[in-house]
Formats: sequence, C-alpha cells, structure tokens
Amino acid sequence: MTRCILCYRCTYVADQITNQRVHGVLDRGDHAEISTYISKAIENDFSGNMIDVCPVGALTDKTFRFKNRVWFTKPVDAHRDCPTCSGKVTLWFRGDEVLRVTARKDQWGEVQSYDGKPGWICNTCRFDKKDMKDWVIEGPMQVARHSVISANHYEKGIKPAETVARVMGGRNPKLLMDIHDVSDVNDPSVDLSKINGPATGSTFTTKNK
Ligand code: SF4
Ligand SMILES: [Zn+2]
Repeated sequence: MTRCILCYRCTYVADQITNQRVHGVLDRGDHAEISTYISKAIENDFSGNMIDVCPVGALTDKTFRFKNRVWFTKPVDAHRDCPTCSGKVTLWFRGDEVLRVTARKDQWGEVQSYDGKPGWICNTCRFDKKDMKDWVIEGPMQVARHSVISANHYEKGIKPAETVARVMGGRNPKLLMDIHDVSDVNDPSVDLSKINGPATGSTFTTKNK
C-alpha cells in the first residue's frame, strides 16, 4: 500500500457502488493509509472498479498482477451480454490470451459513461471472463498518440513487419537466439491468464516437474 497517495478516488467510487461507507483512511498525519481491508470490507459485484480509478497502481487486479507490463499488451474493445453490468470492456491481450479486463476509459482516462451513467463493469466480467470466446470483439481501442501504450499499438491485428534484416542493411543475423530456449520464465506453454494470483518462479518450475 505504499504507493497510495490518499487521493480518495477509491473511497468515492466505493460510495457510489455501495449503500454505505465501508472503507476510508486509517490513522493520521504521516501514518495515514487507506484501509487495507478493502477486499474484506467491500463485498460487492462492482468492487473491482476501484482498481480502474486508482491513479498510481496502489490497487491492482489480482488476476493480472505482475503477469505482464501493460505496454506489452494490446487493448481491444469488446462486449458481452452481461446480466449485471453494461458488458462493455477493454480486453488487454498478449497474443490471443486475455490477460486483463478493464472498464473502457474516455479521452481523460476516466471510466467511460453511457447515457450519463458511469460504465462500471462487474467482477464476473473483470475477473472470470478471460477467454476470447466469452467476448464479441469490436476492434482495437483508440489509444492517445502520446500514450506509451500507443508505441506498441497496431491496427486490425496486422502482425508488425520483422525489422531485424532491415536494420542490418538487408542481412539476416547469423545467430538469432530464441528467448524460450534460454528462459523458463517466458515459456509460451504456460497460460498466464489461467493461473491464480501473480506468476512467480514456482509457476514455471512446478510446470516443468
Ligand atoms: S485510489 Fe489509490 S491512491 Fe487513491 S486513495 Fe485509493 S488506493 Fe490510494
Ligand atoms: Zn458484467
């Protein structure tokens, strides 16, 4: 919780999605911290939306935490027919794996509104629907030109051209090391979107036994 800047955005969202105030700041002065009992205190189908509004990453998605850098993932707009929420989301892909599901953001980075209401998404859509088959894909999310994510953004799922030969004056490299040969941690057969909690070294060593 050391990243928290006590901006109160999560408490404000919790006020919006629950009937009563259930978390807030503990202690005073430089000991002040946001309640660390959020997950215990807020039993609500929409509690995951607090993650989307935290500006510093103090609140993180337990199904995505430490699995990938956001800027290595591809944001794609998608929807599903959800009985609880609007079902309009952004899926964050690595290859064809859905690593993360978030609410859609507007041009100010705030959760998108529909008909004047914030487009909060439910915890089922956010945490449990990590299969591409669960979703109707609409297309790549429009990313602001200055965002770090746009550096890795390409339209219509077209694979970017290989640039190694181009930057080497037309020659192919004599030796091109495959990272999977030298690192267990990048093993493509480990499905990161299906494991519980963060990926650690044991995720890969257990699999190899
Ligand atoms: S939204 Fe994040 S930074 Fe702001 S008070 Fe909550 S945990 Fe802290
Ligand atoms: Zn939903």
